[in-house]
Amino acid sequence: MSSDNYSFETKLLHNQHKVDPATGAVSVPIQHASTFHQFDIESYGKYDYARSGNPTREALEDVIAELEGGTRGFAFSSGMAAISTAFLLLSSGDHIVITDDVYGGTYRMVTQVLTRFGIEHTFVDMTDLDQVKAAIQPNTKAFYVETPSNPLLKVTDIQAITTLAKEINAITYVDNTFLTPEYQRPFELGADIVLHSATKFLSGHSDVVAGLAVVKDEELGKRLYSLQNSFGAVLGPQDAWLVLRGIKTLHVRLEQSQKSAIKIAEFLEAHPLVEKVYYPGLKDHPQHELQKSQAAGPGAVLSFEFKDEQALQVFLTNVKIPVFAVSLGAVESILSYPAKMSHAAMSQAEREKRGIKNSLIRLSVGLENPDDLIHDFSQALHQVKEKLLVLQQGE
Ligand SMILES: *Cc1c(COP(=O)(O)O)cnc(C)c1O
Repeated sequence: MSSDNYSFETKLLHNQHKVDPATGAVSVPIQHASTFHQFDIESYGKYDYARSGNPTREALEDVIAELEGGTRGFAFSSGMAAISTAFLLLSSGDHIVITDDVYGGTYRMVTQVLTRFGIEHTFVDMTDLDQVKAAIQPNTKAFYVETPSNPLLKVTDIQAITTLAKEINAITYVDNTFLTPEYQRPFELGADIVLHSATKFLSGHSDVVAGLAVVKDEELGKRLYSLQNSFGAVLGPQDAWLVLRGIKTLHVRLEQSQKSAIKIAEFLEAHPLVEKVYYPGLKDHPQHELQKSQAAGPGAVLSFEFKDEQALQVFLTNVKIPVFAVSLGAVESILSYPAKMSHAAMSQAEREKRGIKNSLIRLSVGLENPDDLIHDFSQALHQVKEKLLVLQQGE
């Protein structure tokens, strides 16, 4: 049985880097050397200088390429380094059609940096294909998809976008951070470049910042390699090893967190003090069926809204188990406040236009017992109720 036939969870462990060919080590060795001795002046070895190639980083690059079903992977010092380097495939005069509730850092890169280099963009609600079509210009060279989106968990039809892109010879980027190849394989839906903040689910332990890019087309791979080497925002070997280790448990982590997320989403949806829950795993999510058809699961991130900012503040002050922090995709549950964290780069007006309210909170479900989390949320919601009663009596 070749590893091609293995199921995904087996491949996480038994891939081309399961053992080190030099020693048989079952953990990829961390190679710190920045330069490599050349034994022959006529022909140089595979590695010369570690920005251009490092065996530990390369192992991670091979593994992510294999898991995504691409031909070549690239590891960067952060998700933003991966995304920004991949944007350098574009040139002055090009135009990007991009999803409107994109990750805040990507929003900043596109609006504040790429514009200075003559790369234009149009933000659209990608769940509305008519809007996407209307945004296409003669110089549109790329589509940028993030699905499910952050923080509103809107689901974009990847296949529909890549079909449009192919018609006009444009490329499609897909940020696959939220679902990972465990649940979503954008190449199977026609994507050209898959991007990751490996800081999140892939590494999974809140202990490393890393980014990945994967391509399927070999020519595109050569261009991206040249950009990785030119720009130089490569991932260090120690961090590459941490991501490699995290990937081994991706399946068990994500399955468990997703199971809990479904339970918690249902609890929140039924609670009278929660105004709205955004989670593609809920049957009344507007793209629930689409999500089921293009991904193997809804993932472990959800958002929910309170009546107002005050209710949110009382909840946050009283909730005990999750950490309150930027980031997602970790073993511990993380609550974050998009308006002041991931989307702080957006003005209040821009956020409101996108439906990101100041009373919205995002939850990334970790590996705690879901009943403990529900119990904790229950008591914090009870505090919200008490506080609201006090306020009403004061009126
Ligand atoms: C965190 C994140 C990024 C940026 O990744 P960094 O590793 O923080 O640079 C990009 N996209 C999404 C969806 C993210 O959640």
